[in-house]
Amino acid sequence: MSPPRRWGGSSEATGAQADRAGRVAVEPDLSLPRHPEISVIGDLASARSHLPGHDPRPVPGVSPAAKQMGRTAAGNILRRLAGQATQPFRYRDYGNLATIGRNSAVVDLWTPWRRIQFSGWLAWVFWLFAHIYFLIGFRNRLVVLIDWASAYWSEQRYARVVTGIDPRATDN
Ligand SMILES: Cc1cc2nc3c(=O)[nH]c(=O)nc-3n(C[C@H](O)[C@H](O)[C@H](O)COP(=O)(O)OP(=O)(O)OC[C@H]3O[C@@H](n4cnc5c(N)ncnc54)[C@H](O)[C@@H]3O)c2cc1C
Repeated sequence: MSPPRRWGGSSEATGAQADRAGRVAVEPDLSLPRHPEISVIGDLASARSHLPGHDPRPVPGVSPAAKQMGRTAAGNILRRLAGQATQPFRYRDYGNLATIGRNSAVVDLWTPWRRIQFSGWLAWVFWLFAHIYFLIGFRNRLVVLIDWASAYWSEQRYARVVTGIDPRATDN
C-alpha cells in the first residue's frame, strides 16, 4: 500500500484517510475502511478505544497501546479466517510512569482493586524495571539495561526532544 500523504489526505491505492499527523483512520476493529484484509496499528493508526459503557475515546500514542492493538489485530485476523465477527479495539490503561529527574519518578497505576500513586527514588526504580520488563526478548532487555547503565554512569543523554527554538540561537 502506498503510504498516506502527510498533513491529511488519502492513499490512492486504498482510499485510506490520514489525519494532520499522518495517522491512518481505522475502523473500530483496526482494519481499513473497505479493506478488512488490512489492519493498521500502533503510532500509525488514528484509533479509538471502544470500552463497553463508554463513548469511543482516542487511543494515546504509547507502547502499551501499540502492543494491545497488535494483539487485537492478530485476534481479528484469526476470527476472520474462522468466519467469525471481529472485535472492536479496547484500550486497557494501566496508568502512567514518568521520570522527573535523574533519580526520581512518579508512578500512577490503575490496578483492579485501587489506584496506586507514589513518587521519588522508589518510583524511579519501579519505572526502570517496568520499562525493561515490558521489552520483548531477553536480548533486548539486556542491551537496554547496559545502555541505560552506561547513560546513567556517564551522565550522557542519547535521546533528546526539541520542543522549541532557543531564543539565544535567534537573537543576533
Ligand atoms: C522520544 C520518545 C519517547 C517515548 N517515550 C515513551 C514512553 O516512555 N512510554 C511509552 O509507552 N511510549 C513512549 N513513546 C511512544 C512509543 O515509542 C510509541 O508509541 C511506540 O513505539 C509505537 O510503536 P509502533 O510499533 O507503532 O512504532 P515503532 O515502535 O516506531 O516501530 C515501527 C518500526 O517500523 C520500522 N519501519 C518503519 N518504516 C519501515 C519500512 N518502510 N519498512 C520496514 N520497517 C519499517 C521502524 O524502524 C520501527 O522499528 C515515546 C516516543 C518517543 C518518540
